[in-house]
Amino acid sequence: MSLMPPSRERLAASEQALTSLPGYSNDTPTDKEFSVFDPSTEQRIATLRNMTAQEALVEVETAESEGRTWAKTTPRHRSDTLQNVYTVLMENQSRLAYVISREMGKPLGEALGEVQYAADYVRWYAEELLRPAGGYRDNPAGASTILTCRAPVGLTLLIAPWNFPMAMITRKIAPAIAAGCASLIKPAALTPLTTLLTVDLMEEAGVPRELMRVVTTIEPAAFSEAVLSDPRIRKLSFTGSTGVGSTLMSLAAKNIVKSSMELGGNAPFIVFDDADLERAVEGAMLAKLRNGGQSCVAANRFYVQDGIADAFIEAFTEKMSKVVTGNAITEGVGLGPVINQAAVDKLQHLVDDATAQGAELKTGGKKPAQSGYFFSPTVLDRVPAEANIANAEIFGPVAAISRFTTQEEVLWKANNTPFGLAGYVFTENLDRALNVADELETGLVGINNGIPSNPAAPFGGMKQSGLGREGSHEGLEEYQEVRYYNIARRHTD
Ligand code: NAD
Repeated sequence: MSLMPPSRERLAASEQALTSLPGYSNDTPTDKEFSVFDPSTEQRIATLRNMTAQEALVEVETAESEGRTWAKTTPRHRSDTLQNVYTVLMENQSRLAYVISREMGKPLGEALGEVQYAADYVRWYAEELLRPAGGYRDNPAGASTILTCRAPVGLTLLIAPWNFPMAMITRKIAPAIAAGCASLIKPAALTPLTTLLTVDLMEEAGVPRELMRVVTTIEPAAFSEAVLSDPRIRKLSFTGSTGVGSTLMSLAAKNIVKSSMELGGNAPFIVFDDADLERAVEGAMLAKLRNGGQSCVAANRFYVQDGIADAFIEAFTEKMSKVVTGNAITEGVGLGPVINQAAVDKLQHLVDDATAQGAELKTGGKKPAQSGYFFSPTVLDRVPAEANIANAEIFGPVAAISRFTTQEEVLWKANNTPFGLAGYVFTENLDRALNVADELETGLVGINNGIPSNPAAPFGGMKQSGLGREGSHEGLEEYQEVRYYNIARRHTD
């Protein structure tokens, strides 16, 4: 986790990134508005319009009309536009990172990392869209020739969570634009400012504003019921919790809307006796503390084999206890706040329940004495399987460790969950790594790697962690329909 020195000048310039956003106001909200808060200080930083379902339907109209024009642009034009977006986003990386840190709470160095990661999806799709996946098939009977091609799916509804407020948006909007689609975008009400700035910059880079309609609302249920009843919406891409994803799938069923679901996780992090200790501890720090543990791929259940357990837990605990917690824009901070008071309360409950059931608290375990929604980096050893923390998505800087003896035992435990997004395996034995990865019921596996996400990889989950993939060429196909032309053939002399 690198840190960017926040010079006085840079912070002052970045503050303008907040105050110059459209709709920005620091006033107490009226009944038609809502506020955004800084989780590091609990202070209000913006007040935005709470758009109604009727207003959202007006945005559907605008986007649908522009989408028809955009679908007819050339791949080269769309590619050049996205390349330009990449450049403009990177030119504004400090402003974007500042807004992410202020509204979401990750330290500035990590926020800069998110900007790069988010912009990399834009660059990836600028390149990917130039290679359409068409094909030629022979009719086995010889009577015709079949050509396959891809068409834009149509108007897309993109709903994002708060934890990666920029990357979760670009990972959807970039392939949508690449495929030739317009979008209605609903950011999380906790972190809408990053989306507003990103879309502003995309417009500056040449993407028509009518193609990207942002709806800010604190009434998501009314919003989704209205827009998913509108037959002009042809695609839903949702990232968020499994419960909301399930509700949205029911709504999408009405008009048979093509749907992608990036949902909750419960990642096992498995360390075998033959792992490289240093590498395993480093991987554990990344998989647990990146984004303050508020990541769908965060290591959620640590399983450590008996022979390495004491050494791993000692080294990991030492590193966790040295992480500096504080305001996300303060120099030297390695861990910012969690998103809100409800998240602090949930973590406290999970830790208290685990220790009451016999888990050993190695470090942390409570909110430090400072204002802001902070929770100390925490390590729990010997967590019993019955504890709530062994089954819940923790979403915070708390590591729940239990020990295992055999490969068969740990695989059973790792797969004993309805979720299946990410898994981690640490071992120096290649056969073991691949055998275990094959058996894990997860969409992605980090092998000796604490950060498995990448724009070139098809990110997504199995079981209740989701449907569809984001990133790579699979992520573009989510915004396309496959068509074929069957051309009759007749013998000629
Ligand atoms: P959430 O489900 O509460 O909210 C996600 C988004 O859905 C927000 O924009 C929210 O306003 C909106 N929403 C809520 N109810 C809605 C409704 N009825 N209709 C339409 N929209 C609605 O999730 P969250 O708390 O913002 O994010 C955390 C969750 O997201 C975790 O479970 C995490 O694992 C998951 N997540 C998954 C991925 C992934 O790629 N699989 C990535 C990031 C986060």
